[in-house]
Amino acid sequence: MTAARHNQPIDPVSLAAELIRHPSVTPKDEGAIPHLAAVLERLGFACDLQEFTEAGTAPVLNLYARIGKSGRNFCFAGHMDVVPPGNLEAWTAGPFAGTVTADTLHGRGAADMKGAIACFAAASARFLAARGRDFGGSISFLITGDEEGPRINGTKKLLEWAARRGETLDACVIGEPTNVQALGDMIKIGRRGNIYGYITVEGVQGHTAYPHLADNAAHRLLALLHALATAPIDQGTEHFQPSNLQIATIDIGNPVDNVIPGTARATFNIRFNDRWTTATIKDWIKSRLDSVGGGYTLRYRESCDAFLTPPGALSTLLSQAAKRVTGRTPELSTAGGASDGCFIHRYCETAEFGLVGLTQHKVDEHVALADMAALTDIYATALDLYFAVS
Ligand SMILES: [Zn+2]
Repeated sequence: MTAARHNQPIDPVSLAAELIRHPSVTPKDEGAIPHLAAVLERLGFACDLQEFTEAGTAPVLNLYARIGKSGRNFCFAGHMDVVPPGNLEAWTAGPFAGTVTADTLHGRGAADMKGAIACFAAASARFLAARGRDFGGSISFLITGDEEGPRINGTKKLLEWAARRGETLDACVIGEPTNVQALGDMIKIGRRGNIYGYITVEGVQGHTAYPHLADNAAHRLLALLHALATAPIDQGTEHFQPSNLQIATIDIGNPVDNVIPGTARATFNIRFNDRWTTATIKDWIKSRLDSVGGGYTLRYRESCDAFLTPPGALSTLLSQAAKRVTGRTPELSTAGGASDGCFIHRYCETAEFGLVGLTQHKVDEHVALADMAALTDIYATALDLYFAVS
């Protein structure tokens, strides 16, 4: 291969439809990532497929691809896995048919986020066609198959693997569907942290007519949950809304009405802002529960810390690109659920910008073809601005 210019335009809609036809419901890949790798290899990217696994988890396929060996490395990051389609009968077209109509691309992953991944590739192809492969920098793809799942064998391990090989990233755009109603609405510059708690209270089972001979686990659980759910955790911070706790389940499973339950369980979820770390939010939980007293056991599933990339070079560049294409200036936000930004931000400046998220995770997920074209323009403009010839 030479460094000659290669004109291989990529149609983002066709590529996204092809990716949708690989039903890559976490943790399965079904050929989606190799399909993307083949497309990137034709553009001159060096592709590394990495499968990660560990005890008790399913193996997951990931991809790191890079073109360029020098200069700053601009990274496109995203997930190829999708959530399950749910009730197939409810879908107008099959969730994995990748149906394209006059103005819309349909299918699971269209918005979240195979559509954006296809736009990454189309924008890279356009940039490389204009500038050639020797443009004095590097473009990379950090693609995982484990973002919608437990996020154990995905981006975190891929970043560690890349770092061991001496790879460095300088800026990273994640293609999550950050726009609320229309393209150009919103860039995410951070995300709240996330932790799940599982409380079990053991009491003494007994007859409801003889409570003095029992210890009602339900009553004690109610008191603990009351202590957790009534006080605000904080008032929010400069870039974040207040931290929030939601009780997800209360499980007693008592089949009869005249038995005092001996065991009661509950699950809660806290989305916390950058005032807290996973460790300090655990301290808060413990102090609230201990203020009630009584025995309980508590188990956690830790998801991620809050992250924030303060408004800076990357968010400015993305805003400019979005404004140039859509005429709108995106809001810089930290709302919504967790993303792999909580791993990537430890390595480089990170921001998220993708398609419109209105139908993500829903039946009949779809995106507008016009948005696919505009997002490709925005990503290509971001590359132009990032690698501007001075
Ligand atoms: Zn997503």
